[in-house]
Amino acid sequence: MVDQPILDVAGLSKSFGGIQALKGVDLGVRAGEIFGLLGPNGAGKTTLFNMMAGYLPPSAGRVTFLGKNITALKPHRRAAMGLARTFQITQPFPELTVEENVMVGASRSRPSIRAARAAVGEWIDVVGLGEKRHALGRELSTGQRKRLELARALSTDPKLLLLDEITGGVDQKSIPGLVDLVRRLRDLGVTLVMIEHNMSVISDLADRMMFLNRGEPLATGTPKDILAMEEVADLYLGDGGDA
Ligand code: ATP
Repeated sequence: MVDQPILDVAGLSKSFGGIQALKGVDLGVRAGEIFGLLGPNGAGKTTLFNMMAGYLPPSAGRVTFLGKNITALKPHRRAAMGLARTFQITQPFPELTVEENVMVGASRSRPSIRAARAAVGEWIDVVGLGEKRHALGRELSTGQRKRLELARALSTDPKLLLLDEITGGVDQKSIPGLVDLVRRLRDLGVTLVMIEHNMSVISDLADRMMFLNRGEPLATGTPKDILAMEEVADLYLGDGGDA
């Protein structure tokens, strides 16, 4: 079916003891789009992400990927199907090179070391770390670590990639390069869902976005429409979001 979303989230809820972090969220991500998630601190973005990627079991609801119910699948099984994620806090192995760091994930999903090495080389070039392939994890800047984190996630050849604050903690001058890189990944056929606090980044990149507040979607639509909403501006800027 042409219109079937690549990822479909239906009635997804999560409670932590007495806290209802997510309240019945519905969301459909279309193949080839960049979908943004925005919301104040504690809105439930990370909880939603963790349930999409399989790091957290939902209290209720269903996650469907490529038409298959994956709600009970572990992260590595989802990755094998083509659903990968990055982490906001990047933790490369400090004493391994860039190449070795990416190999750790890639070798699990390849038939041979040679095939893994070829894929790793390609993704390291795509993320712009070609000249750093022999640098150690601990020698990288924050922007370079974000690129390494991307290469690590990409090494499983995902169809859908969940990006957790790719520009978070990165200096201003490195942001345009990361924005270009995300666009390039989409051009290479990767569908992207991104948690992003930087409004200009989300405006530049996202085709559609959801604004979450207190575990519920306040609105879903184009960044232009959502960011023009008075309620969004009040909630977000009141929260200190970095526009
Ligand atoms: P931020 O922008 O600050 O990362 P967020 O939108 O990602 O926020 P979540 O981290 O998903 O929000 O948190 C949603 C709610 O669930 C918050 O009230 C948070 O305190 C609570 N929460 C999240 N994880 C847990 C947990 N493991 N145990 C208890 N409460 C949790």
